Amino acid sequence: KLYNQVQDLKGSIRVYCRVRPFSPGQPNRSSNVAHIEEGNITIVVPSKYGKEGHKSFNFNKVFGPAATQEEVFADTQPLIRSVLDGYNVCIFAYGQTGSGKTYTMSGPKELTEEGLGVNYRALEIRNSSREGLNVPDANLVPVASTSDVMELMDIGHRNRAVGATALNDRSSRSHSCLTVHVQGKDLASGAVLRGCMHLVDLAGSERVNKSEVTGDRLKEAQHINKSLSALGDVIASLAQKNAHVPYRNSKLTQLLQDSLGGQAKTLMFVHISPEMDAIGETISTLKFAERVA
Ligand code: ADP
Ligand code: MG
Repeated sequence: KLYNQVQDLKGSIRVYCRVRPFSPGQPNRSSNVAHIEEGNITIVVPSKYGKEGHKSFNFNKVFGPAATQEEVFADTQPLIRSVLDGYNVCIFAYGQTGSGKTYTMSGPKELTEEGLGVNYRALEIRNSSREGLNVPDANLVPVASTSDVMELMDIGHRNRAVGATALNDRSSRSHSCLTVHVQGKDLASGAVLRGCMHLVDLAGSERVNKSEVTGDRLKEAQHINKSLSALGDVIASLAQKNAHVPYRNSKLTQLLQDSLGGQAKTLMFVHISPEMDAIGETISTLKFAERVA
């Protein structure tokens, strides 16, 4: 409750940054991240991206490579709890392919207890009645337990992988959204509270090289870039408290309209790949984040 009051004062959009560790087995490489503090990240800017030197960006929170899933989840829990108070909540994972979006939202491929991501942990919401928790997949599927949800998420992940080829990884070319509807009853007043939570693992934000892709693949890539920038536009105009919010510019923002803005709360995780050769995408990811914060 206190968290909600603080949130209401500060506005309802929070942006967190997460830097994944170097992948195991990779030779020691230089990092594009110079320094991390609580809510601040400093990156190394090489001369070809403008003035050579360091540039800092502020966030509500920055998680370094050593941050555990548990620590990350702990900082989303108050927001997730507010669903039980009848708020609508959206949590997004943004970043280039390979930066750790799916790791944050779901976990590593070989899922362990400690590896469980936000999706799994958030559904552990206690005190929900049997009918109280619904997960829409293609349909609205009632679930009674976390393991029901896990099963549904596996089906979702398998669907997402359909059509994957070496060149075209579906998960980087599609958004994945898990929505949970929660209905609660205030035992004192008898009032019914309805909240809804969208957990969105976005398509990869990397810019495609037009010389490398053509036809349907190019169209698809342009579509993804358009929907991500439409999402950025919506969140930016909410953050600036603009009167007009351009929800209608993409399917994604239309779909989430009721849960973006108004009384809703939004958390954007932006993900950074630490390798120096990812610096171009890191800069554009941080610029995206700067706009929505
Ligand atoms: P994305 O969904 O953005 O394409 P992934 O979540 O699949 O990226 O992450 C790419 C790789 O890096 C995976 O092998 C994943 O397990 C690993 N990884 C990502 N984030 C972390 C992290 N915080 N700690 C350890 N490994 C991570
Ligand atoms: Mg992914």
